[in-house]
Amino acid sequence: MYTAEKYLWWSEAERKLADEVADFSDNVIRAQINEIERTKKFPWNWFEEMGKKGWYGAFIPEKYGGTGKGIGRTTGFCIVLEEIARGAPVAVDFYETTIYGYSPIVRFGTEKQKKKWLPRLATGELFAAIVITEPFMGSDAANIQTTAVRKGNEYVINGKKRFITLGGIANLYVVYCKTSDDPEDRKNHRHLSTFVVGKGTPGFTVEAIHDPMGRFGSRHAVLNFDEVRVPKENRILNEGDGWKILTDALNIERLGVAAGAVGTSRCAVAATADYVTRRVAFNQTLADIPGVQTMCGDMVTRTNLISLLVYYSAHKMDLGMDVPLGCTIAKVFATQSLMKTVLDAVQCHGGDGYMRNYPTERLMRDSKLIEIGAGANELMQHLVWRLWLKDYLAMRSAGRKPVTRSSISGPAAKKKILDALAEFYCRHPALYMEKEEMMEKLGLTAEDLDKALEAAEAEKLVALYRKRGRIALAKATYTGLKKAKPQKYYNFFPDFVDKEREVF
Ligand SMILES: Cc1cc2nc3c(=O)[nH]c(=O)nc-3n(C[C@H](O)[C@H](O)[C@H](O)COP(=O)(O)OP(=O)(O)OC[C@H]3O[C@@H](n4cnc5c(N)ncnc54)[C@H](O)[C@@H]3O)c2cc1C
Repeated sequence: MYTAEKYLWWSEAERKLADEVADFSDNVIRAQINEIERTKKFPWNWFEEMGKKGWYGAFIPEKYGGTGKGIGRTTGFCIVLEEIARGAPVAVDFYETTIYGYSPIVRFGTEKQKKKWLPRLATGELFAAIVITEPFMGSDAANIQTTAVRKGNEYVINGKKRFITLGGIANLYVVYCKTSDDPEDRKNHRHLSTFVVGKGTPGFTVEAIHDPMGRFGSRHAVLNFDEVRVPKENRILNEGDGWKILTDALNIERLGVAAGAVGTSRCAVAATADYVTRRVAFNQTLADIPGVQTMCGDMVTRTNLISLLVYYSAHKMDLGMDVPLGCTIAKVFATQSLMKTVLDAVQCHGGDGYMRNYPTERLMRDSKLIEIGAGANELMQHLVWRLWLKDYLAMRSAGRKPVTRSSISGPAAKKKILDALAEFYCRHPALYMEKEEMMEKLGLTAEDLDKALEAAEAEKLVALYRKRGRIALAKATYTGLKKAKPQKYYNFFPDFVDKEREVF
């Protein structure tokens, strides 16, 4: 079987876990997936067996029943996800939802909350759901409309949530609600709070079950909260901490989605190899036709690459490092890559790829979800750029000499600024100069440089670009360049120019 690649840095326990999950994936998930696809029934036995094996305990400390001696928490989590996704992508939904659901309790719960829920979550006796999305709010998660209003020792929750995985199945629902309308709280992301709502709480009902494109057997529900009373002991952390809790688990969530994509890619590549090596056309197998080889080679390359991306970030997290950029890149790249892989897999199967007797059709439907869920890829791409740029700019700033006292002021400062901008113009005629670069070059503090730049701006000698109201970039205007240097200073004629005939 084309199972998870066991990296050199994996422990013996991690290798053993990969074999154990691979066995479950092949003998339970793969063996039953066609029946699940046909009936769309919820596979309770997968759920229960995974609970008995202790895999849900990935992030639960051992004193609350968590497992994993010798297994890195993130690596172990990714191994399980990869292998069960290789069996069928839908299996991932059950596993990761419970883990994302309980992670706020692990990270921020009180001792009482941990003791009450974690041991039973670790063994699969309880399942958790993560409840954020609403009919009128998805990607814009800060815009939650469901309210929770404090009444004595309780909160009263009203609103509707949708697309909730394990809705109706889970026992515990980790629900994000708005607890403040104060614009200041909204601005500071202090307007949300997180509550654990138990199945069976009066007023809490499943309104509808969605009928999805793929991942049959999973459950996604619309949930209705009608005057639902929850004790204040069910609030996680403090009122106003909801956004902090929501964003805390994002790295794990993104990496988990990417790990699932690795497993599904592996399944698609193996299915394609099984097909193209046995189908004969033009007197050769498809596997020998260069066009098919190109597609297959790409599939293998992408699968190996995303695997490396996932486990390298997982390893860093297990060493205690924070890897937001690595996890976000893994989410985007692995899910985009998977989508291309499953489409190519269908293509390599020809007409059979369009039929339900091969797994590729299911893999194609099942894979689309993760380009949308766990943060739509478009948002993630923006985030990759923002995270990377923040690191890059910090690195560049770190290399600059700090200026604590200005060496010049008044007209001298203005003159030096114009000179610097004139010189910068000769090197970068289309660019603005950065404030930090000017500070270092001119030996001016931020405050003194601002004052001098504003004075020059008032005289129309410089033009400034402000970001969030603060000066970030500057350039000399035409008047400023003229004032700084004579025209000759700006002249530049390479040797190949005939100065007699071309320059006037
Ligand atoms: C099967 C399934 C299971 C799910 N399970 C859960 C769950 O268990 N719990 C839960 O809370 N939620 C769940 N969700 C919800 C999921 O997280 C959201 O669907 C997702 O966040 C996108 O939100 P949306 O569907 O409202 O799309 P919208 O936010 O309306 O966005 C639609 C599209 O617009 C584009 N877009 C939106 N904003 C931007 C932007 N700023 N920049 C660029 N492009 C943008 C993207 O292409 C995006 O796909 C699930 C969804 C599905 C389909």
